[in-house]
Amino acid sequence: MTADYRGIPSVDRVLAHPGVARLAQTFSREAVTALTRRQLDQVRKAVANGAPAPPLDEIAQQVAHAAAAEWAAGPRPVINATGVIIHTNLGRAPLSRDALNAVQKSALGYSDLEYDLDAGDRGSRMQHVAALLQQVTGAEAALAVNNNASAVMLMLAALAAGREVIVSRGEAVEIGGGFRIPDVLRQSGATLVEVGTTNRTYLRDYQAALSPRTAALLKVHASNFRITGFTHTATLEELASLARQHGMLLLHDLGSGCLLPTERFGLAHEPTPQESITASAELVCFSTDKLLGGPQGGVVAGKRELVERVARHPLARAVRMDKLGLAALSATLLHYVKGEAIQEVPVWRMIAAPLDELETRARRWAHAVHEAASVVRGESTIGGGSLPGETLPTWLLALTPGSAGSPEELLRRLRHAPTPVIGRVVDDQVVLDPRTVSPDEEETLLEAVRHALPM
Ligand SMILES: *Cc1c(COP(=O)(O)O)cnc(C)c1O
Repeated sequence: MTADYRGIPSVDRVLAHPGVARLAQTFSREAVTALTRRQLDQVRKAVANGAPAPPLDEIAQQVAHAAAAEWAAGPRPVINATGVIIHTNLGRAPLSRDALNAVQKSALGYSDLEYDLDAGDRGSRMQHVAALLQQVTGAEAALAVNNNASAVMLMLAALAAGREVIVSRGEAVEIGGGFRIPDVLRQSGATLVEVGTTNRTYLRDYQAALSPRTAALLKVHASNFRITGFTHTATLEELASLARQHGMLLLHDLGSGCLLPTERFGLAHEPTPQESITASAELVCFSTDKLLGGPQGGVVAGKRELVERVARHPLARAVRMDKLGLAALSATLLHYVKGEAIQEVPVWRMIAAPLDELETRARRWAHAVHEAASVVRGESTIGGGSLPGETLPTWLLALTPGSAGSPEELLRRLRHAPTPVIGRVVDDQVVLDPRTVSPDEEETLLEAVRHALPM
């Protein structure tokens, strides 16, 4: 059978279709013409393979779908009802109102990003966060870069390239998203010397590995997994004193950048930069969008002379923080300086949310939705490479799929709401956790649930 191309409409006919003509008004005639040509090429290929030519309406709809999928401004906002507070796939930490305002102001106009207003001359982009970071971490000096992966890489490249860095086997780990300590070390030009075993590493293991080529001991916080049972790790104090005795550096990758005591909220203790610096780690590094609750970023903080060496390394220019990040970070750090982080930084507000308030909200949701909804106890998690295995008790809205079919089908419907709602499945029910949903998102969430559940 030979392919019949005659049924395929011309580019002009598709462009004249009312649906496609409307698209050309929203976007541009050029862009929509190119998209139509591409779509028709695909149709031609399908016809060549024996498929019948689709009707004009269907082709117009395909063009509209392609435009919607490819020319949408993204990332799209979603409602995180998973109860995972620092959800890496959903953009980690939401910003505070002040941080948002700071971003908006510095985005819409010019700023003194690298301008010294007193001197009327060139300034440093680090001036905006250096003092704040010193204040909240207790470090002599600090540098902000575009994420913690680059902070680790930069620190090692500037201070250990061509030399050896000693890491415990239990800490030569993958943090997620392809960030593996052994690979980062190699890329930085340093040589990894692994010591101890996966579950037990003693101070004497580090001691035995010291050589004239050693530049540093690197401690990496196990931020996304937990080894339990028969374990041992050398303490930061022990490592600091070993490093001091032998004139080498102690570097600490903390991961999370947690500035407040997590045990206040019934969680395990998450190490803080303040503690590491007090225990005399020469340099620490951490993320700014995990428990710190700010924009994507990384910080290197510690001894002034070392921070300055790190800042002078050519890679520092390649991984510098952008002006929007700096604006958001300085506004976020100010919340800590003012002692209002628990009230103002969303990540901490979610961690600190009182259980009775979560229950009230879950009950209000259940009441507003449907008979298929109930309220059950559950657990929220911190997520995002912080406090693995730790949970906070919460109350959940639980939805029985009913005629929506399976829980997976109900989840899918919620994801396809005008503002997608992301939930999870527990015991064959779809559960939505009020902890990670802000009060201004509630109406939108309830609307999405009402639509997804067949009445
Ligand atoms: C999260 C994490 C990183 C990577 O930080 P990003 O800000 O995501 O680049 C590195 N080290 C540890 C221990 C982490 O937990």
